[in-house]
Amino acid sequence: MRNGYFITDYHCHSTVSPDGRSTMREIAEAAVALGVDDLCFTDHIEPLPWDRWNEPPKAKHSYDWSPMLAQFREAQEAVGGRIRLHLGAELGECSFAPEVAESFLEDAPPLDFTIGSVHCYRTASGEVNDLTWIKSTDPAVWYAACESYLDELEKLVDWGRFEVLGHLTLPLRWAKELRGVELDFDRYEEQLRHVMRRAIERGIGIECNTNRGHRPLPDGKWLKIYRELGGELITLGSDAHTPEYISRAMEERQALLKECGLRYLATYEQKKPTFHKI
Ligand SMILES: [Zn+2]
Repeated sequence: MRNGYFITDYHCHSTVSPDGRSTMREIAEAAVALGVDDLCFTDHIEPLPWDRWNEPPKAKHSYDWSPMLAQFREAQEAVGGRIRLHLGAELGECSFAPEVAESFLEDAPPLDFTIGSVHCYRTASGEVNDLTWIKSTDPAVWYAACESYLDELEKLVDWGRFEVLGHLTLPLRWAKELRGVELDFDRYEEQLRHVMRRAIERGIGIECNTNRGHRPLPDGKWLKIYRELGGELITLGSDAHTPEYISRAMEERQALLKECGLRYLATYEQKKPTFHKI
């Protein structure tokens, strides 16, 4: 408990991720020091080759899960019973290559939790492009990417082999942080409502990504809509890639969920949610 709150962080990355900078052990030790009660590692598993999104996936569709398991065991040994640790994954870009993602999952160890997420979109010529690769400060370029991003989210939720949808409205983060462009997702309300409705029907939750303490993804407007649509399956995740951001702003974001009418925060074990009253 921290400041009277049960603290969970269900989105963080270790060096098992191509862009992670700390080991699971370092993250787990930091989490204990920060008073986190329950932490789930969610390293990136991508069916497309990382950062070379247009290269065809390897002929043999397999993922080597052993470094993840080795790091997880080391972290568990280091922190003992001082925190609840869970093993999960962030499954990115699965709508672009679902058959590859499925073969990765066939060989997966028992995971507690998975996030389905989209970081890429298709250009008008059909190439896969990463949102972070957009150099333009022209909002029209970003909106074209958002439209494709939303199409991919729809395909992702139809695929559905994960527990929560990660960081909905992610283009807002990259447009702002990388290029200083403010986007407005209100124009996509119908489509986002559709994605959330479909998720609820399928028993898939959403994440409120606390974005290391910056603007939450999704923010209050969408959290209220999610609740209004009947959604109540939600996790909180910092998306930390380094220990200092673990569990950042979790108390404030729990308060935000409550303000938006949400009553529970979820943690997962073997893909089954436990609801914690907030
Ligand atoms: Zn992500």
